[in-house]
Amino acid sequence: MTISIWILGDQLIPNHPALEKAKKDNRTENLCVLMIESDARVRRKRYHAKKLILLFSAMRHFAAYLRDQGITVDYRFAEDMTSAIDAHIREYYPDSMIVMAASSIRGQEYQRRMQNRMGIPVDILPNPMFLSNRYDPFPGIDIEKNIRQESFYREMRQHSKLLMDEDGEPLGGNWNFDKQNRKKLPEGIDIPEGISFKPDQITQDVMKSVAERFPWTEPVEDFDLAVTHQEAEKASVDFFQHRLKHFGTYEDAMTHRDSVLFHSMLSPYLNLGLLDPLDLAKRAEEHYHNGEIEINNVEGFIRQVVGWREYMHWQYQRLMPGLAEGNYFDAHKPLPEFFWTGETEMNCLKHVIQRALKDGYAHHIERLMIISNYCLLAGIAPLEVLDWFQSLFIDAYDWVMLPNVMGMGLFADGGRVGTKPYISSANYINKMGDYCRDCIYDHNKRTGEKACPFNFLYWNFLLEHEEMLRENHRMARMLYNLKHLDEDERQAMGISAEKHIAG
Ligand code: FAD
Ligand code: SF4
Repeated sequence: MTISIWILGDQLIPNHPALEKAKKDNRTENLCVLMIESDARVRRKRYHAKKLILLFSAMRHFAAYLRDQGITVDYRFAEDMTSAIDAHIREYYPDSMIVMAASSIRGQEYQRRMQNRMGIPVDILPNPMFLSNRYDPFPGIDIEKNIRQESFYREMRQHSKLLMDEDGEPLGGNWNFDKQNRKKLPEGIDIPEGISFKPDQITQDVMKSVAERFPWTEPVEDFDLAVTHQEAEKASVDFFQHRLKHFGTYEDAMTHRDSVLFHSMLSPYLNLGLLDPLDLAKRAEEHYHNGEIEINNVEGFIRQVVGWREYMHWQYQRLMPGLAEGNYFDAHKPLPEFFWTGETEMNCLKHVIQRALKDGYAHHIERLMIISNYCLLAGIAPLEVLDWFQSLFIDAYDWVMLPNVMGMGLFADGGRVGTKPYISSANYINKMGDYCRDCIYDHNKRTGEKACPFNFLYWNFLLEHEEMLRENHRMARMLYNLKHLDEDERQAMGISAEKHIAG
């Protein structure tokens, strides 16, 4: 009798719980791992070719890693998941199947329905790729009550014993070091080059197959991402050695010179299971204890990995399916065509979009304060924005995209994920970045031909939604400034915003 284990493409963890369970039950002899590349799944969106290459190459390397351990792998290319599973059952006659819970709600529902369809028992194991699933029950958190990110993060720190002293107090005396962080990039600072990996034969085959199977994707010749655990590990070491030292300090800085700066560029690997979040955070902490990295930088990084990442996953589980349906500001404009071409005169958007089109990546603040900020101010329909992010970004999966785009980025959920809409005029973009000095628009102007669109869109947004925004006390300061606008200016903002959006 065979036991089947279906491993999903974003579950490539070496200690996969289904494999561990089979080992524990002494059932490794007649074990078969099923992995599926489904074309129908890919055709749902205009996915970035690099995302597909990364996913399929990592899957095929994982299959090779399992085979090296003597495990049978049934690796299928199919139109859809269901036909692949049916074909697998017809060929291997498993008496049971083990899966690890999918990260997406849709995947979880599919897994629950499998048992009825297949007529064999299906064991669904908890997904340990998220730390909150490892700590069960998650202490101090009432699942019915919304928890703000800061409290959630503190719980995670205490639970995982990261940056904590023996008395249970945060190391360095503070939970966060924001005051030392978020600086603009100094002129002339060296930005380290990221590590790159030469595609091996497996990756080259995947590149060819993606171009043939999905001919609408852009041709890719410069694929250099990690596709194995060892390579992802090297990418993390490269980050610790060259970029962690400035991570927190320049976390919010933006420049036309580079997209990654001192960020880690590890989300694609964490989300596939090539890196483990707790291990990554612990290794980052070691660099602090070795005296190599200041507390503000290491805490900034740990906050992202065990604070924000976990919090977003937790919110996704809580708020779905409603999260996908929110449209708090009733925004219905179509996404401008330049999001797919990068052809715009707004210098900040041009750089960030062009780099996303090329590499499927932008760092957090550029995603939030340039792209989402623009979409929110311009009243673009949330689902169109979501579709754009999901298609292009190499680290995009439902569990992380939905809370980030619909919650944090667009406030489409009305404030369940975040506490206020993240909006700003050109002032912030100019303060934190160097895009404005080479832009045809003037970041100081709110009206007139050269006025920066972020300015009149920002004021117009406040005017249009004033009543709703007044309900949020965190918006009080922004709204207070409305009193400095006279009637002519108010009208001019509205006209400029309308013209810009129509154009
Ligand atoms: P770093 O800045 O080096 O941060 C370290 C790690 O912390 C990241 O690798 C990531 O795993 C985690 N992290 C930090 N912030 C978040 C967050 N808000 N949510 C989840 N994890 C976080 N992240 C994704 O993984 N996939 C997405 O599809 C995605 N879409 C986003 C869309 C929008 C509109 C916004 C505002 C944020 C989005 N994020 C997404 C979160 C965050 O921007 C990315 O995780 C981060 O930019 C990835 O780059 P990095 O690895 O260099 O991150
Ligand atoms: Fe962007 Fe406006 Fe600055 Fe131009 S002036 S780079 S559009 S914020």
